[in-house]
Amino acid sequence: MDRLPTDQLMALDRRHVWHPYAPMPNTGPVFAVRSAQGVHLELETGERLVDGMSSWWTCIHGYNHPRLNRAAQEQMGRMSHVMFGGLTHQPAVQLAHRLVQITPEPLQQVFFCDSGSVAVEVAMKLAIQYWHNRGEPQKQHFLTIRNGYHGDTFAAMAVCDPVNGMHHLFRNSLVEQYFADAPQIPFEGVWDEKDIASFETILQCHHREIAAAIFEPVVQGAGGMRVYSPQYVRRARELCDQYGVLLILDEIATGFGRTGKLFACEYADVTPDILCVGKALTGGFMSLAATLTTEHISETFAQGEAGVFMHGPTFMGNPLACAVALENLNLLESYDWAARIQAIETQLKQELTPCRDLPAVKDVRVLGAIGVVELHEPVDMAVVQPQFVQHGVWLRPFGRLVYTMPPYIIEPGQLRQITQAIHTILS
Ligand SMILES: *Cc1c(COP(=O)(O)O)cnc(C)c1O
Repeated sequence: MDRLPTDQLMALDRRHVWHPYAPMPNTGPVFAVRSAQGVHLELETGERLVDGMSSWWTCIHGYNHPRLNRAAQEQMGRMSHVMFGGLTHQPAVQLAHRLVQITPEPLQQVFFCDSGSVAVEVAMKLAIQYWHNRGEPQKQHFLTIRNGYHGDTFAAMAVCDPVNGMHHLFRNSLVEQYFADAPQIPFEGVWDEKDIASFETILQCHHREIAAAIFEPVVQGAGGMRVYSPQYVRRARELCDQYGVLLILDEIATGFGRTGKLFACEYADVTPDILCVGKALTGGFMSLAATLTTEHISETFAQGEAGVFMHGPTFMGNPLACAVALENLNLLESYDWAARIQAIETQLKQELTPCRDLPAVKDVRVLGAIGVVELHEPVDMAVVQPQFVQHGVWLRPFGRLVYTMPPYIIEPGQLRQITQAIHTILS
């Protein structure tokens, strides 16, 4: 591939390329990355930035990791892809087996997906088809909680926060789902049953038509970066059982250690009926996600009208992605990741807490390797983004939130660079 001069690259980018949640032509600041190594992004213009985003929760072991590169190269030498209909292979089977081993015990079956949104679509379709298989075809709706984020495809969008997700734009194409109030009790707060009252009321009134509840346990990501009481998750599980509704937990953001537990549902000691994972699964190498189910769910499919689960992506179980994901999980097991997350959490608490005293700041919250500074007013991205780059760090605030979820390999001095930039710029 011939390289374009930077100014031409940027002009063509603005003219022809959509970016996530960006206008066209793109008027916001965009920076071209030449390469990435460890915790650093290297720009075409020469700057070297400490990455505070892990490329949206994914790149937990840093960029250009030699072990992930080697896993990909070895797999490429055999095959980068084959169809999954009627064929299987070492990487997919071994990865499925590993996922079953590291997730809560009742989860035994793995459906591989291309992205997190598809993993959520698959989870929702599994829930609907499960009830159909059991002779309850009227159970086709979903209960979720406000401030959630589950992806950008239609079924996933219908369970995203209706305000953040601008549901009215898509009104006639979106199925209307049930929204419980967002949990208010913080992670270490004293539990109060009132927090889950609206969740319970919806189940009481509508459980006959609800297939499943779906939400992000303990940490809500892109819908508001909120951290809430594990007791909410525990009570939600009990209520789902009481009212005959499945529980889908979306751990696409929280999975693989980010919150300090391998999966955030462990804080609540809760097992979902269906679990979605993605994002950090390949260590940020490429897109791969998975939906896990219990035997109780999968065994109903043989007797169902269709006899099979009605889903099958073209690139399902891509061998390259599975091989890299397996090596990423080997990597995670090869060191004391929990101690690393604990150290990051301690440092984030120490260094972000002083932001509380700034007039612009409303709240600071930290859990695991996630640090969030919530402001009173939305940030002006066009101003703030270049300021972070000038401070040598890569952060991508949105709305009233400035937040970081760095790679687990970040050194204390590099993390301090991020927290200092946040404090200085918000001052
Ligand atoms: C990112 C995310 C998704 C969507 O994943 P994509 O890979 O972007 O489709 C779904 N749920 C949660 C909780 C996420 O953080």
